[in-house]
Amino acid sequence: MLNFDLTEEQQMIKKMIREFADEVVAPGAIDRDRTKEFPVEVFKQLSEMGMMGLPFSEEYGGGGADTISFAIVTEELSRACASTGITYSAHISLGGAPLNLFGTEEQKHTYLTPICTGESFGAFGLTESNAGSDAGGTQTTAKVDGNDYVINGSKVFITNASYAKHLAITAITGTEGGKKEVSAIIVPTDAEGFTVIDNYEKMGLNASNTTELVLDNVRVPKENLLGTQGNGFRQFLVTLDGGRIGIGAMAVGIAQAAFDRALRYSKERKQFGKTLSEFQITQFKLADMAMKIELARNMVHKAAWLKDQGRPFSKEASMCKLYASEIAMEVASEAIQIHGGYGYMKEYEVERYMRDAKLLEIGEGTSEVQRMVIARLIGC
Ligand SMILES: Cc1cc2nc3c(=O)[nH]c(=O)nc-3n(C[C@H](O)[C@H](O)[C@H](O)COP(=O)(O)OP(=O)(O)OC[C@H]3O[C@@H](n4cnc5c(N)ncnc54)[C@H](O)[C@@H]3O)c2cc1C
Repeated sequence: MLNFDLTEEQQMIKKMIREFADEVVAPGAIDRDRTKEFPVEVFKQLSEMGMMGLPFSEEYGGGGADTISFAIVTEELSRACASTGITYSAHISLGGAPLNLFGTEEQKHTYLTPICTGESFGAFGLTESNAGSDAGGTQTTAKVDGNDYVINGSKVFITNASYAKHLAITAITGTEGGKKEVSAIIVPTDAEGFTVIDNYEKMGLNASNTTELVLDNVRVPKENLLGTQGNGFRQFLVTLDGGRIGIGAMAVGIAQAAFDRALRYSKERKQFGKTLSEFQITQFKLADMAMKIELARNMVHKAAWLKDQGRPFSKEASMCKLYASEIAMEVASEAIQIHGGYGYMKEYEVERYMRDAKLLEIGEGTSEVQRMVIARLIGC
């Protein structure tokens, strides 16, 4: 049984979020890119719509929807404003997902529920200045002292932390067989010694929140351990698999926005007495853009579908993230080309799509890392 139709529920979610994206999210996107203002009001409304815990169980305040629905919402938000898209994607797939996957019942009620209701944003602190692609370089430590962990270290590039009440971070909790033992620990952001610094100057995704974290003798109870001690690496690899579907969906959204604008402009702009869309070279560019977007969306939905079936999806998640992020850059660049000089101007928005899309080839595993993952999973 092969079926490419969305279910009734998925179609309903798509219609609702599409209208919201067009009417509420898109109008302020240029301004937010300029002012770097976090889309607080947009997320207030997304909370009211029940979107903040969409794929999590109703028991924790979630929407009980599937991963395809999450991908649809992420795509549509990113089509309107990629800063809103990454905030949402990280909230769900980096913030909520590890709690949902590895948390105890008590942790889920305490930490996942406020994420589902939108009371807290979800965030995840893995990357450090010396631990990016090679997370084995983690230097943050969590030492047991009585009934507590005492955490020292720092994290870089962490999405949403300024708006999170708590987040899971990775830290070295010991050594085993000469190897670092890394664990994930839930830390309240108002804990003494915890500082969130929000002063990066970024290339794009300007309205999203990207922060540095400093942990100076931060004390949390031992029961804040997420999952099992020493399993932090495996847990974050599983978390990132799901996150890659979010990045793939974001990329499809940005590419779709760039394509829509390029198609519209090509029908309006006249040179040599003809619209650009009458030139075969423009038609071929648009045909290639449309084809790549369709292929990328299919791959995102396939990875999401496999995840929903409880089947292995790591390879497909990497493939959809890699392919969608690379075609998003290509499509955004072609959209600028089709706009000519106007494409270079902020007013036409296509230059923002290219700046925003670039992060997708870097975050949650660079394109090089995705190729390494896929190569391993195809048996190289
Ligand atoms: C806006 C933004 C938001 C982010 N949000 C989060 C977040 O919420 N949480 C979080 O934990 N992290 C987050 N990150 C961090 C992100 O995941 C890392 O930047 C990314 O994994 C790459 O790590 P790095 O920047 O240290 O680059 P490096 O690992 O130093 O890589 C530099 C280059 O070397 C290449 N390279 C590295 N190793 C190899 C190899 N073995 N073979 C071939 N090439 C290699 C890479 O592909 C890359 O091209 C965010 C980053 C940004 C920019």
